[in-house]
Amino acid sequence: MMKIALSVENLSKIYLDSEKKTPKINALRNITLDVKQGEIFGLLGPNGAGKTTFLSILAGTVIKSSGKVNVWGFDLDKNPRQVRASIGIVPQEVNLDAFFSPKKLLDLQAGLYGIKNKEKITETILKLVSLDKEANSYSRNLSGGMKRRLLIAKAMVHQPPILVLDEPTAGVDVELRKNLWENVKELNKIGVTIILTTHYLSEAQEMCSRIAIINKGDLIALDTTKKLLERIKTKKILFKLEKFNKNISLSMPNIKFSIISNQYISVSYEKDMIDFENLISFLKKNNLKILDISIDDGDLEDVFLQLIKN
Ligand code: ATP
Repeated sequence: MMKIALSVENLSKIYLDSEKKTPKINALRNITLDVKQGEIFGLLGPNGAGKTTFLSILAGTVIKSSGKVNVWGFDLDKNPRQVRASIGIVPQEVNLDAFFSPKKLLDLQAGLYGIKNKEKITETILKLVSLDKEANSYSRNLSGGMKRRLLIAKAMVHQPPILVLDEPTAGVDVELRKNLWENVKELNKIGVTIILTTHYLSEAQEMCSRIAIINKGDLIALDTTKKLLERIKTKKILFKLEKFNKNISLSMPNIKFSIISNQYISVSYEKDMIDFENLISFLKKNNLKILDISIDDGDLEDVFLQLIKN
């Protein structure tokens, strides 16, 4: 049977106003979810949704107000040390000592965890995140992407079964982002359960098997990425047309026309709500000659906006 890597039940966090000791903000409200062993699980939400609070509770740096948290079979209230040992946390900010080499840094980290065979662990982990060639360079000389990978390596030193990444690609350029995700996928392949937050919905769409969306402290969606994508109600078609007068006015029931230029019109409509024959003859009637058609099936961004709007 598949093991549950993380289970959270009715988790809430209320930050108190430090002076008045009165409730200030409900950062998380009754969150209930499970992450299965071997998953790549995405936690998504707009700014201030409560993602960092959620991860900080797992990391032990923020204390929950109520609810249950179980990590790798350990209850956070009863076995906080085992919980910490089961998770590797990759923080949002890059906080590396500029004068340590990756090797030195990982050796020190291994020392902190009382790992005996330091040399070997360090070597293996540097290979895992493709930093073996940079093992002895100063951290300050590493590129942004390499620094992020070094943070992953640091979080993996004690070989936790679960790796938590908080916005690992913020501020990393496209090429390095891809590279970073490749490394994360490799770690997942060797059995590490991954929990991540990201602002880039396209990345979540590509990486995650399941996604939880939180908004203002509430869990508003929890499903497989596939099912979430199926929820998109609006579809879009882009027509490339022979040049036409942009001042044309078009209207049809259940369809929204957007004139993009004197050659392109985008048509959005609710799934199963239009008759294509009608649409095509309508365009013809308006002397619009179709040169090309492309369909935009929508992505996680649409689901996200749809959910948050409601
Ligand atoms: P972002 O994507 O911007 O990092 P987030 O989803 O991680 O946002 P959190 O940082 O968890 O959101 O914040 C959730 C809410 O709790 C926000 O309204 C934030 O202002 C508030 N908050 C976070 N930390 C504290 C704190 N230490 N004291 C009081 N309020 C806090």
